[in-house]
Amino acid sequence: MHIYDYLIVGAGLFGSVFARELTDAGFKCLIIDKRPHTGGNVYTEKREGIDVHMYGPHIFHTSDDRIWAYVNRFTKFNHYVNRPKVYYKGKIYSFPINLFTLYQLYGVKTPAEAQKKLEEVKVPIKNPKNLEEWVLSQVGQEIYEIFIKGYTMKQWMCDPKELPTFIIRRLPIRLTFDDNYFNDCYQGIPVEGYTKMMERLQAGIEVRLNTDYFANKEYFDGTARKVVFTGKIDEFFGYRFGELEYRTLRFEHEMHKGDYQGNAIINYTEYEIPYTRICEHKHFTFGQQEHTIITKEYPEAWSRGKEPYYPINNERNNKIYKQYATLSEELKDKYIFGGRLAEYKYYDMHQVIGSALAKAKKEIEFQKSTCS
Ligand code: FAD
Repeated sequence: MHIYDYLIVGAGLFGSVFARELTDAGFKCLIIDKRPHTGGNVYTEKREGIDVHMYGPHIFHTSDDRIWAYVNRFTKFNHYVNRPKVYYKGKIYSFPINLFTLYQLYGVKTPAEAQKKLEEVKVPIKNPKNLEEWVLSQVGQEIYEIFIKGYTMKQWMCDPKELPTFIIRRLPIRLTFDDNYFNDCYQGIPVEGYTKMMERLQAGIEVRLNTDYFANKEYFDGTARKVVFTGKIDEFFGYRFGELEYRTLRFEHEMHKGDYQGNAIINYTEYEIPYTRICEHKHFTFGQQEHTIITKEYPEAWSRGKEPYYPINNERNNKIYKQYATLSEELKDKYIFGGRLAEYKYYDMHQVIGSALAKAKKEIEFQKSTCS
């Protein structure tokens, strides 16, 4: 006899949205998470009155009216707009690259002057064979050195000459003074932090933390009619086709007096500086505190046991993932797989919410059809 209709493995956005929808449709859900807190990677922790983004800075952005209305049911958003800066060899540059950046670099003041300058600085490479050649052919040596080279070497831990061009499919350069990182209609940060938003999303649903599904899989499978799994798909299948690879990060938090850098995010693009960015959390909420908390983000080589942040969707990994995905199809009567780890896919928050809403709707329709 099952106690629950659905066991949801993972209290991140996918699991929580799915649980909310199924609960509202009248089904009984249990959410478990192996971490000691809820929210998955969007988790924020209140430290000295500041919401600290514990797994890297998270800025909510979407152009989808339906998703924006949905998240606004659970939190109010402020008017934060992401305008990161780049620090390189003692200078600060406007970023993403826009007319002001090009003014800083070349003194150009109009879109036409900037366009002409970009044509001049491009390196004529006919068939770029790697990331370095491709970027040089698009924007020339100086922009490549300042914005791409060192940063990419740190992130990918190899020379850009060894990387395929598809890693940077598009190098957005704006010939206007618009320095808003995102192009979406809606953007902001939950005024009370993401954790409050996640708690409201899970209101009335049983949540058990510090609970690893694999520590007692048989027992948990027996508690519910269906299992929604949002953890690592290769782990679910005992790594039988091989291990999927990720990029991982180490976060170092520091407390300081006053205002550390005057902006929420500054990217450090020099190779010699080991971190890729510093995030100063109080600027996400326009905090006026006399103290501040910053986080330095260091890329690290991934191995099992470390946090899997970004999937590496190269040929090898995609091939392995496909085998797991095929196998998961065969189990669809009992298991639903979703979210960034189970689908081995980078999802922004609005995308993972959209995916969870779609899968929940399909499931509810399926349940209705089997009852009637
Ligand atoms: P998760 O949040 O990872 O949730 C999965 C949960 O499953 C985890 O809590 C995990 O502990 C749990 N779990 C796994 N295995 C088990 C198990 N065996 N037993 C129990 N529990 C288990 N998106 C944006 O829109 N804007 C941003 O600015 C942005 N910034 C980002 C910055 C970084 C550094 C990263 C890595 C991501 C960023 N994202 C951003 C993406 C965002 O984090 C994801 O869209 C979102 O967290 C995905 O939710 P999820 O539920 O799929 O995964």
